[in-house]
This record gives sequence, C-alpha cells and structure tokens, in this order.
Amino acid sequence: MAKYNSILTNAPEGGVSYEKFELDISGFEVNLKPLLTGICGTDRGIVYGSLPFAYNPHGSSRLVLGHESLCRVTDASSNNFGIKKGDYVIPMVRRPGKCLNCLAGRSDNCSDGDKHEAGITGLHGFMREEFGDSAEYLVKVPDPEIGDVAVLTEPLKNVCKAFEVFDTVSRKSIFTDSAGTYHEKKSVVVGTGSEAFLFALKSIDYGFQTYITNRHGLDDVKDEFVQKTGMNFYDYSSSVEPEKDGFDLAIDTSGDPSTIFRFLRKLNNNGILVLFGTNGKAPPANLDGSDIDHIIERNIAVIGSVDGARIHYEKALQDLTRWRYQYGSALQSMITDKVSPEDTQIFTKKPSDEIKTVIDWS
Ligand code: NAP
Ligand code: ZN
Repeated sequence: MAKYNSILTNAPEGGVSYEKFELDISGFEVNLKPLLTGICGTDRGIVYGSLPFAYNPHGSSRLVLGHESLCRVTDASSNNFGIKKGDYVIPMVRRPGKCLNCLAGRSDNCSDGDKHEAGITGLHGFMREEFGDSAEYLVKVPDPEIGDVAVLTEPLKNVCKAFEVFDTVSRKSIFTDSAGTYHEKKSVVVGTGSEAFLFALKSIDYGFQTYITNRHGLDDVKDEFVQKTGMNFYDYSSSVEPEKDGFDLAIDTSGDPSTIFRFLRKLNNNGILVLFGTNGKAPPANLDGSDIDHIIERNIAVIGSVDGARIHYEKALQDLTRWRYQYGSALQSMITDKVSPEDTQIFTKKPSDEIKTVIDWS
C-alpha cells in the first residue's frame, strides 16, 4: 500500500477533495498513468450527493472519482490484448458480474445489475496519479496522433452503443429513404451537452438531416461548433420551429419527461425515440390517450440505451480518428477547458460554455 494523489468523494453522500489516499495498486498486469480525465454530469451528481446508486468500494471510506480517461501504459507484465509499455489506452468503465451478458463481454447489457463501474459504483475510478488494471479492460488507442480528443472515447462509446440499438430496432420496417440512405430522414437531438453533440456528429455520419435543440440559445463556443460541423441548432422554446414535417429519429439527452413527450409527439411513421439522458429530479409529465394512439398507429419504438462494450470503445476510437481529419480543430474545440487536479471547484461550478472540461494530469 502507498499513498497516491487522488480526487476523492464519499459515495453516495458526496463531497470532493484532492489529497493523498492510500491505495494498493500492486499485482496488476498493467500500470497506468492518466494523462487526461473528463468530467461529466455523473461526476458532478456524485459530488452533489444526488446519485443514490453510487457507492464506495467494499471496505473503503472513499471513492476515487473518474470514469472518462486517456492513459499511458507505464509498465505491462504481459502482452495480453497487445498492450505494451508506452501505449495510449482507454480504461473501460464497467466491470462484469456473473450474468450471461456479463460473461459474454456485454456488461453494458448486464441482466442482474451485479456489475461495477469505475468511479461510480464500488470500484475506484481513474482520477489519480497512477493505478493498475488488467489488460482485458484496456482499449488501445490505434492512432495516438488523435491526441487529446481520445479522452472523448468513453462518452462516445455510449453513442455507438445507442446507434447499435437503433440499427437493430429500425430493421422492423424499411427505415431508409428510397435510395437506401438516410438523406431524406430527419433526426433531432435534445440537449446541447457533450453527449448531445457526439450524438449529433454520429447522426450526421449516418446521413440524417441533423437538428440539435434546447430551450434556450447557444453561447458563442457551441454556436461555432454547430456551424463548423454542419448540424442545425434551434431553440425549441421560440415560436419558429423548423420541424413541421416531423422527425424520424429523436434522441433525448435531457431526461426531462415533458420535453421527451414533446418530441415523441413529433415523430413520423416508424419513428424511433432513444432515451439516453437521466434526470431523476425532473418534474413529472403525462401522456394521454391520443399520445398512446400516436405511438401505436405510427409504429413508434421507444428505446432506452445505457453504456457500451469493448466493441463500442473501438468504434468510438475509429470515429474520433476519422472526425479528427474531417473536422480538424473543430473537434478539438469540444474540449473547452483543461484544469489541474487541485481545481476541484470545477465539480461544483459548471462553466456556462462547457462542452467537455478535462483534468490534465501530465
Ligand atoms: P449535460 O452536459 O448535463 O447535458 C444535458 C443537456 O440537456 C444540457 O445541454 C441541458 O441544457 C439539456 N437539457 C436539460 N433540460 C432540458 C430541456 N428541458 N430541454 C432541452 N434540453 C435540456 O450531460 P451529458 O454529459 O451531455 O450527458 C447527457 C445525459 O446523459 C445526462 O443526463 C447523463 O447523466 C446521461 N448519460 C447517460 C448515459 C447512458 O449510458 N445512457 C451515459 C452517460 C451519460 P442546459 O444545461 O444548457 O440547460
Ligand atoms: Zn451482469
């Protein structure tokens, strides 16, 4: 056991501090040094004590935060999964339980909830100066030239998984247009946080006419990102709504029921609604009989999607590598701020123009 500089909380009560914490990192196949760790709403929710499902590792008084990370391998005792010293890797968040999905490498589809999530549920996370892990939970960055944006792999893998579910469900009808493409199809992504922008980039990849929306306008940083990537933003609270013809795919990252129902009502025949955002504190909203008729008569599918597996981390890295060349500095501009590990106020004060704030450990 030794003490390592770590960003700590006490889950589920909350709080945050940066201090030396005693951890046993010996006996692991691979030793890692985090370079960048991303901050997301889940980290802030844990710090605020508003996520009752978060908990410390068994026998530990604290939880090391952090589940979005880009790391460098400092030592590797085996060549498993091709991981060797000097590699850049992304550590996976979920660690399997014993259900069939977990045993099949799909802990993202865990059927009994008996999995753990680094930095969230029962497992120390990646916001510490160094740690150890098994090679089977590390995904190698194939092109280190992509640089800092590799830290977006973890949030993007959720998007890749959600689109895999979309692919499966959309097969129930002919979802594409007459040319077999998505070019005549419209998608809308609700919310303008980092996950929403990643969903919108993926939707553009598919060929959808892609809209992104919120109940207010965008600040300059986000507006510039929207302009440079070719997505269409609109403020749905204004009277001018561009979606008169309806949408074929709606993806929600807000978790707000009344907003979700608003966009459910705008779905076309064979439309699909993907629920992704979570907000247990959002006010309730109601569906009425005509909404149920709308869902049934239009063959609408409503799907929830959580997390992702190794295959989605790998797809995310492929997407980032391609986007890095396609969008250049615009992709880099998703990282709106870099802070030091000591700057723990970033967990309690979200910058208004934030897309993704990262902690720089180098
Ligand atoms: P985020 O930055 O907090 O994004 C949430 C976005 O929703 C913000 O842009 C927020 O807008 C917007 N929003 C809130 N209420 C809204 C409303 N009524 N109408 C329109 N937009 C609204 O979080 P994130 O990191 O991008 O993640 C998005 C959500 O996905 C979070 O709820 C997160 O917990 C969840 N998540 C799910 C998974 C999964 O596997 N399913 C994985 C990771 C995260 P303003 O802040 O500008 O008001
Ligand atoms: Zn399981």
